[in-house]
Amino acid sequence: MKQFISSSISLAFLCRAPIILAAPKTLDIYFIDVEGGAATLIVSPTGQSLLIDTGWPSDRDAGRIAHVAIEVAGLKQIDHCVITHWHRDHVGGLPALAKLIPIKNYYDHGLPQTIAADMQAELIDAYKQTTQGKSITLKPGNEIKLQRSPKHLPPLQVRVIASGGIVLGDQTSQPQIRPCGDRFEPKAEDKTDNANSVGIVLTFGRFKFLDGGDLSWNIESRLACPKNLVGQVDVYQVDHHGMDASNNPVLVRAMRPRVAIIDDGPRKGAEPGTFATLKSIRSVEAIYQLHRNVRTSDKDNTMSGYIANEAEVCQGDYLKLSVEPDARSYIVSIPARQISRRYRTR
Ligand SMILES: [Zn+2]
Repeated sequence: MKQFISSSISLAFLCRAPIILAAPKTLDIYFIDVEGGAATLIVSPTGQSLLIDTGWPSDRDAGRIAHVAIEVAGLKQIDHCVITHWHRDHVGGLPALAKLIPIKNYYDHGLPQTIAADMQAELIDAYKQTTQGKSITLKPGNEIKLQRSPKHLPPLQVRVIASGGIVLGDQTSQPQIRPCGDRFEPKAEDKTDNANSVGIVLTFGRFKFLDGGDLSWNIESRLACPKNLVGQVDVYQVDHHGMDASNNPVLVRAMRPRVAIIDDGPRKGAEPGTFATLKSIRSVEAIYQLHRNVRTSDKDNTMSGYIANEAEVCQGDYLKLSVEPDARSYIVSIPARQISRRYRTR
């Protein structure tokens, strides 16, 4: 009898269709090493992808991005691609990349009417050709719609907070310098396209991340004053590769980041002023660099276990950030060195 009961239980169990719950996926952000350019790949828990910037004009950078997208992240296409501004270390890799993986939607701050001294006509032409004239101009307040998160996951939002020199809530880019606050210290007007960078805030539940492209000092001031338009962030992709023409302490302090990630090169970015700013902010628990800055000493670089590429001649190792499905914590890792650390979301 005993045996009968147990077998009927197991039969009843077997007759029911087994419910297999797939493990909830993380939100992943890859900081791809393009040696002083920018290429940040965001992959949502549902597998939608957003690439912000494409590195320098070279097969090297396109190859590194495609490798991470296809072989590491398992993508078949890039759903959305934002070019923050028209400098060669951001738009340069696009034509070569588009030959390696399909790219579905393009966004930028608006095609230039005239080719300024800091732009290159052939890169703009290549962009127009690659996008077939179908790029979308982003304005502050716009959202890039990724597929909605299933109900059991926190909401995911990608929002533009700056574009074309205009910040959220403003109607115009002029004047660039607007006095604000006790600590107001402008720099000379930035006439380069850096000031026009698209700035993007991603939120996934309580988790918040800023990628401001190469936004520079005076625009950063307007993002923080009179109102903190970004809010507090968990992770800050340090503006402009960590150069001192950017990273206004007024903004960095207002955002109170816990983790700062510098997409520098061995001889570009991660400059001492920016490094000192990050070190001086109490909320910053960890500073990561894609590269050791070989032009400065150890004291102006983060600790060795926080640098993806120590040597100037490198393999181009990436940094990875994975936000847990409940968004309560995230892991920053250097996969090539098998280093990973967990941080609590605010
Ligand atoms: Zn740049």
